[in-house]
Amino acid sequence: MKIIILKFGGSSLADPGKIRRAAALVLAQRRGGARPVVVVSAPADSTDDLLKLAAAAGGRNPSRRELDALLAGGEQFSAALMALALEAEGAKAISLTGGQAGIMTDAVHSDAGIRRIDPARLRRELRAGRIPVVAGFQGITAAGDITTLGRGGSDLTAVALAGALKAAVCEFFTDVKGIYTAHPALVPEARKIKLISYDEVIALAALGTEVRQLRAVRYAAKHGIPLQLRSSFHTEAGTLVTAAGGPAGVTCLSLQKKGGTALVALIGRGLGRPEALKTLAAARAAGLAPAAIRTAPGSIIVSVPAAQGETLLKALHTAFI
Ligand code: ASP
Ligand code: MG
Repeated sequence: MKIIILKFGGSSLADPGKIRRAAALVLAQRRGGARPVVVVSAPADSTDDLLKLAAAAGGRNPSRRELDALLAGGEQFSAALMALALEAEGAKAISLTGGQAGIMTDAVHSDAGIRRIDPARLRRELRAGRIPVVAGFQGITAAGDITTLGRGGSDLTAVALAGALKAAVCEFFTDVKGIYTAHPALVPEARKIKLISYDEVIALAALGTEVRQLRAVRYAAKHGIPLQLRSSFHTEAGTLVTAAGGPAGVTCLSLQKKGGTALVALIGRGLGRPEALKTLAAARAAGLAPAAIRTAPGSIIVSVPAAQGETLLKALHTAFI
């Protein structure tokens, strides 16, 4: 049976109702024939709340080892509640800390690197018919101390486990539906992308678009793990990230402002002179005169005065998407 990793972000676990909803999504995947391994973040805002508590109790220079012990608790809290919610629906589930799930790290507290994963316990639980629910963002040192993997580290837990278990896919459930052809707040016609490549997502991030799972995307690219980015509040499919991605051509656009300049980027595969000429023509038709244009196979970057950024973004979106 195929193993899949289902990772839930903090906004999907913010209260008991949302945890039950997430549990229902896990069970639906299992009914579909997959063997899920769940990875959870701490409930929304709770990591920040724990940091505030640490500052209140421990002052300005808290020990990083103790901060890790404290913060790891946020994810353990989610894991236990998720296991309870799964069992309430009649499934067999078991919550595990990062250490119990076999995630061994170096001893760099608050920003530990994963050294090795021993998936024996996870495999045993799967064989016993239980759904493992792993607390994200944490591991254990050779000396047995709890570490955390850096802010947002649950995403890394998920892809690292996907690699170790040779999972068919690693699905990220958040409060966004996927990656869009442009920021929907700036371009109302923007639509969700079905299929995109690791390289295109990494390019988007490099060009200033916030990609919350960037570290995880890099890891997945290195190990060839397909990622599915989707919302836990909608049933529709999200964005699938693979090595090959979708068809050649422009996949999406980004806008980044730096001082007085706006950089509008077209991101895709196999971009060249025809796309560059079409870009210039679309800009001119919108009454804009780009100051510079840079073409590479994976992107075309156009600069205009900052005030014209949105107009150019919309014009190029209409021309290419
Ligand atoms: N709870 C941790 C954080 O807020 C880790 C995570 O959510 O991935 O950074
Ligand atoms: Mg997170």
